[in-house]
This record gives sequence, C-alpha cells and structure tokens, in this order.
Amino acid sequence: MTTFDCDAVVVGAGVVGLAIARRLALAGLETLVIEREGAIGMGTSSRNSEVIHAGLYYPPGSLKARLCREGRERLYAYCEARGVGARRVGKLVLAATADEVAKLEAIMATAKANGVNDLQRLTREEVAALEPALACHAAFLSPSTGIIDTHGLMLALQGDLEEAAGTVAFHAPVAEARPEDGGFTIVTGGADATEIRTRLLVNAAGHGAPRLAASIHGEPAAQAPRQWFAKGNYVSLIGRQPFSRLVYPLPDAAGLGIHATLDLAGRCRFGPDVEWVEHEDDLEVSPTRLPIFEAAIRRYWPALPSGALQPDYAGIRPKLHGPGSPMPDFRVDGPEMHGLSGLVQLFGIESPGLTSSLALADLVADRLGLPAIAL
Ligand SMILES: Cc1cc2nc3c(=O)[nH]c(=O)nc-3n(C[C@H](O)[C@H](O)[C@H](O)COP(=O)(O)OP(=O)(O)OC[C@H]3O[C@@H](n4cnc5c(N)ncnc54)[C@H](O)[C@@H]3O)c2cc1C
Repeated sequence: MTTFDCDAVVVGAGVVGLAIARRLALAGLETLVIEREGAIGMGTSSRNSEVIHAGLYYPPGSLKARLCREGRERLYAYCEARGVGARRVGKLVLAATADEVAKLEAIMATAKANGVNDLQRLTREEVAALEPALACHAAFLSPSTGIIDTHGLMLALQGDLEEAAGTVAFHAPVAEARPEDGGFTIVTGGADATEIRTRLLVNAAGHGAPRLAASIHGEPAAQAPRQWFAKGNYVSLIGRQPFSRLVYPLPDAAGLGIHATLDLAGRCRFGPDVEWVEHEDDLEVSPTRLPIFEAAIRRYWPALPSGALQPDYAGIRPKLHGPGSPMPDFRVDGPEMHGLSGLVQLFGIESPGLTSSLALADLVADRLGLPAIAL
C-alpha cells in the first residue's frame, strides 16, 4: 500500500469540496482532494438548476441565509475575474391568484430581513410588459438572481487549487478515516489502495458524507445524521424559450415549486419537482410525470403547447429531513460539535449550496481555526 502525508484532505470534488480545497491551498496548506469518480462534479454539482440565488426564502439568521447572500456576490465577482459564464438574468416570483398575495409578501419580508433589498413589486400589467407569455395576479422581480456555468466554475476552482500546488486524486473512494497522532489516517479503496496522513480533514462528500462520518473512528455515531433523498426531476421544452427571466411560482413545503430556468445557451427547462426516493442513484426521469409538470406550468404559462415537454435529467437533494418535516439549515460541524480537532464535516448541503460555495469555504476555514484571508 502506498503511503504519503499532506496538510489537508478534502473528500469530494463537487463544487463545495473544490471551493474548500482552493481556500485551504491558497492559505498555504498542501491540499489533496480525494474523489471516488473519474472527474470533478459527477455528483449533485452537475445536476441542479445552475441558479445563483439571491437569498429570498431562508430563515433570517440561518447559515443558508447568510452564506447565500455573501456567496452570491462573491460568486458573481469570481466569475467575472476568472471568465466563468454567469449572468444576472433576474427572477420573477408569481402569485397566481389574489389568495397567494399574502404569501408573496411574506417572502418579500423574509428576503428583506436577509438583506436582499433590491426586490421590485410588480402588478399583473407590469409583469405582462416584461414577460407577455406569463399569467399571474401579482409578482416581484429579484434582479440579483442569475445563472451560472457550474462546470466552468468547478474548472476554475480546480485550476486555482492546482496553481496553489493542490491536487485532485480520482478513482479513490475513501473507505475509512482514523484519528491518529493529532491528525487523521485515511484509507482509500479502488485499484490502488493508498494510506494518507493529514493534519486537517474536510468531509465534503455530498450524499456520501453521513456514510463517511460513520466510518470515522472516534466520531460519536450520533453525530452522523440520517439522510433522506428528494429527487428533483427536470423536463425540457421543445421549441423557443417563452421567457427571458427565471419564473418561479410560490414555494411548497419541500422545494421552490416547478419553475422555469434558462441556461447560458438560452435553453428553457422546468423543474425540479420533489419526489422522495430510497436511493441516491435513482436518477431516471419518468415520462409519467409529464402531466404533473404540464398542470403546474399552465398555472403561469397557459399557452404551453401540448406535447412540448420531454424528460431531461434529475438531481437528488441530500436532505436532513423527511417528507412533511421542516427544512433544516446546512450543517457545517467543526471540532466544537464532534470533539475531533482538525475535522470539519458538511451535511445537508442542498440548495443554495452552489451559490454559497465560496462562503462555505471560508466558514470551513474558520471552523478549522485558520486566519481569514482576502480572496
Ligand atoms: C435538483 C437540485 C437543484 C439545485 N439547484 C441549485 C441552484 O439552482 N442553486 C444553488 O445554489 N444550489 C442548487 N442546488 C444545490 C447544489 O447543487 C448543491 O448544494 C451542491 O452541488 C453540493 O455540492 P457538493 O460538492 O457538496 O456535493 P456533490 O456535488 O454531490 O459532490 C460530492 C462529491 O463527493 C464524492 N464522494 C462521495 N463519497 C465519497 C467517498 N467516500 N470518497 C471519495 N469521494 C466521495 C462524490 O462522488 C461527489 O463527487 C440544487 C440541488 C439539487 C439536487
């Protein structure tokens, strides 16, 4: 078995793991990312809406609210500096009927409490002037919501990491991690079993994070949370895109409602819905869901042509709550929570994890006791 040493190991080469690894490498630590797949971003980071969220919905004072707001502006600035595709296309949130206006206003109040001060309340006529295809009773516009090329972002983060002498090791599933000699010994499986000794360890393994936590000897079992899987199916639109902004109905208990997103190439897709599933790899989009999508979309786009939707891709939210229970915050567990110095574990990094990635990286560095640096 090969053995070597480094300062910091990050498990998981998704957008969050790469952002954290870049942050640690730029702090001067010899940093290794360990990824079980053969490329970056093979998990949830390639299966989302690619929206830079403004931070409208999250409970004020939560990590989701703070990291989304901070992460959003840092992400726009980073994309501009590094030539990563991103655009503030704006987002409309709609009240379909007069009954929904109180909920629309409650979201605006939450957004304001979260420091999102640029929302514009719109009448039905003002919405029609912006997006003639839409039907609604009232709406608001969030100008700072946008879209991003997530893969371009991950490539830029990996580039920064490697320029700072960091490395990503592929095809290396972490089988276990043991606290040892003031650090950790990590054993990877796969073809070339390797033992790595590190002072700092970050568990950013997405769906695999609770499993990895449970394998860390010395970690109290109670600290590894139970995880549920909420699939988000997407369908794509055959034909011309009907809107030039993102369009959202009011959120429901488990998600943001079946919304219309655009990508940087101008393609329109709808979703994600919420389908609770048993396994993290249940990624097929069933055509039997198309009628549910059609009904939801026609509430705000009555002219949706019949047969214009086709199944696209799905992503699975790493949920820390089951159906019907309230949505919890991100968990970024540092030594004060689990008692192991040098270890940070991330759980339940669902949306807005992409938007928050750079801010999450700073939070992890802080939990590891590293000094702040200007990036
Ligand atoms: C349907 C959907 C829509 C979303 N839309 C948005 C959005 O519009 N905007 C937004 O901000 N956020 C959105 N999100 C959330 C966002 O996609 C995630 O928060 C983010 O991608 C999480 O990144 P990650 O790096 O934590 O996880 P992942 O991308 O899942 O990466 C984890 C990595 O760890 C690896 N791994 C796991 N176990 C091991 C192991 N034992 N050893 C080695 N490697 C391992 C995996 O292979 C994977 O590559 C959405 C999520 C979903 C599901």
